[in-house]
Amino acid sequence: MSLKGLIKGLHHVTATVSDAQEDVDFYTKLLGQRLVKETVNFDNEKVYHFYYGNEIGSPSTIFTTFPYKDQGVRQGVIGNGQVFESVFSAPGNSLDFWRNRLQNHGIGTKSEHRFGKEFLLFEDFSGLKLSIVEDSNDQREPVWTTSEITKENAIRGIHSVVLAIKKPEEVLHFLQNFGYKVHVKDGKFTLLETDEQGAGNSVIVQDGRDLPDGINGLGTVHHVAHRVDSIEDSIKIKEHLQKEYGISATEVKDRKYFKSIYFRIPGNVLFEVATSGPGFLVDETNEELGSSLKLPEWQEIRREQIEKNLEPYER
Ligand code: ZN
Repeated sequence: MSLKGLIKGLHHVTATVSDAQEDVDFYTKLLGQRLVKETVNFDNEKVYHFYYGNEIGSPSTIFTTFPYKDQGVRQGVIGNGQVFESVFSAPGNSLDFWRNRLQNHGIGTKSEHRFGKEFLLFEDFSGLKLSIVEDSNDQREPVWTTSEITKENAIRGIHSVVLAIKKPEEVLHFLQNFGYKVHVKDGKFTLLETDEQGAGNSVIVQDGRDLPDGINGLGTVHHVAHRVDSIEDSIKIKEHLQKEYGISATEVKDRKYFKSIYFRIPGNVLFEVATSGPGFLVDETNEELGSSLKLPEWQEIRREQIEKNLEPYER
């Protein structure tokens, strides 16, 4: 059985970060993302779960965080077996805008050239590794703009994730079976794409033999989610993983805005396969998105207690 075509591309990236206020300021005010949903970590209701994205949080534009400050979680180590870097896609000729903007806000940047393109590297306040790359072929509309970030410069969504891998061959083999084809290689980096191609549908494998092993914690990516059209496709993938690799994916989890399974690939990175729907408009209108704490029905009865445990922040 082949998985050909089931994985459409990326869905979201989820990171463990530090302070809620710093996080909201960084991703909405500085990077110009929309906070499309404020909820709690469904597996730990003491912690917010913030979803940032374009206007409606379309799959492949979503970057999500768990701000774990003061919850007894140590600073993590970014390294092998993790998403080493999350890459955002910006319009052509916008990188100077971003370089100046980040530097004017005291965020250090450096440049690295891969596949003939400049990647502008920087970190968020929790130490998470991020970058921006120009991609004139990105068809996604930069629909969410702010008074400081016009559509000429606005981030269009996630471009790709860089996976740090100690034994890249094994993982490249797995990813090709999973639905990503090798597009181009450049030194220690290999860029792979799904059939949908391009920004939002790409992963980069980085040969990580010189890197430490990653340790989960503040300032690290927890997992990367790939999108499918339906839960039936997720189940086909789950069966395939068991049969071909002996990998046991979790049962289907209802994340309210999508349904998901989780598993670790060879190389140890935590993957999620998430349905594109139903999306963030199931419990708020477009105007309301991200404006108040939303809880799944099964947690609604404890709302008062849950709200009491969350540190307030300003939007
Ligand atoms: Zn996720």
